[in-house]
Amino acid sequence: MEVRLNTNESPEPPPPELAAELASIASRLPLHRYPDRSAADLRAAVAAHHGVAPEQVFCANGSNEVLQCLLLAYGGSGRQALVFEPTYALHAHIARLTGTEVVAGARNAAFEIERAGALELLAATGPEVVLLCSPNNPTGNTESPETIASVAAAADGLVVVDEAYAQFAPSSAVALLGDAPNLAVVRTFSKTWALAGLRLGYLLADPEVAAACAKVALPYHLDAFKQAAGVAALRHVAEMDARVRRLVEARRRLVEGLSRLPVDQWPSAANFVLFRPRHMAAAEVWGGLVEASVLVRDVSSFPGLENCLRVTVGAAEENRRFLAALGEVLEVGPSVGSPG
Ligand SMILES: *Cc1c(COP(=O)(O)O)cnc(C)c1O
Repeated sequence: MEVRLNTNESPEPPPPELAAELASIASRLPLHRYPDRSAADLRAAVAAHHGVAPEQVFCANGSNEVLQCLLLAYGGSGRQALVFEPTYALHAHIARLTGTEVVAGARNAAFEIERAGALELLAATGPEVVLLCSPNNPTGNTESPETIASVAAAADGLVVVDEAYAQFAPSSAVALLGDAPNLAVVRTFSKTWALAGLRLGYLLADPEVAAACAKVALPYHLDAFKQAAGVAALRHVAEMDARVRRLVEARRRLVEGLSRLPVDQWPSAANFVLFRPRHMAAAEVWGGLVEASVLVRDVSSFPGLENCLRVTVGAAEENRRFLAALGEVLEVGPSVGSPG
């Protein structure tokens, strides 16, 4: 597959200066020693980046492992996790893996969580964990800080906000942390930081929540290379911000291109766009794109996302190829879908 726009990765590899630093780190590591079990340097660097205390930070092998630790600590047999479908499928999956029962709430037509309905559901079910996702994967919309704050205020349990795409969005729940001790924000190096292969994610929360995660993680779960690599990556914030700006501009062009095709699409605050072919089956469109060596994600089996596909914002040339191929598959000709 030549154009891979199916897993929301960064289209660019890490910046060359960072790649060189990573090579140098690898050559100097004392690999015969166990790594720092508390990942103190990495947690201090993450804390400084977000303006929180190191005790509020827990790091793990990708944000999926952070979520697993949260659910091991706060979920489990006889406990419930509330999700709002359609959302990131791994939330329910990881919850079930930890023996947590999954309760599913719904979203409105814009895929937002309705505050009144959410509060009713909270009162009726009283889940130990609420899993939010903002921007939400695969729909792309954000949850307003007001909604997140009122869910956190109404919940007895822990309210987790998965912010894998926060850098692309106008708001973040990190600002709410000081006011809500039951709020936990999960971030990842997999998307914006162009380090999906490194497997590094982290939690920002009340020190008690971070400590609970550290308790259920395996000893030395975070290897020495990853710890040093994360610290190095955080020295390249300006370059990462520049990449986010490039992708937001590429997203604008992609959305513009899609608007000229017979598809419905939803506004995105992330590095992907959800769309629905108007006159053709999603599976057929997906297959046609594969024939043109373009891979997108078929999300048509998600509840409420009948016939929908999700495309990652790639590099300019990848987005052009996607739009041209989509135009041909939808039989409107390749030129219509090429905004240049
Ligand atoms: C991609 C993604 C992640 C990233 O998971 P990692 O384990 O950090 O690679 C987490 N949450 C959501 C919603 C995602 O889309």
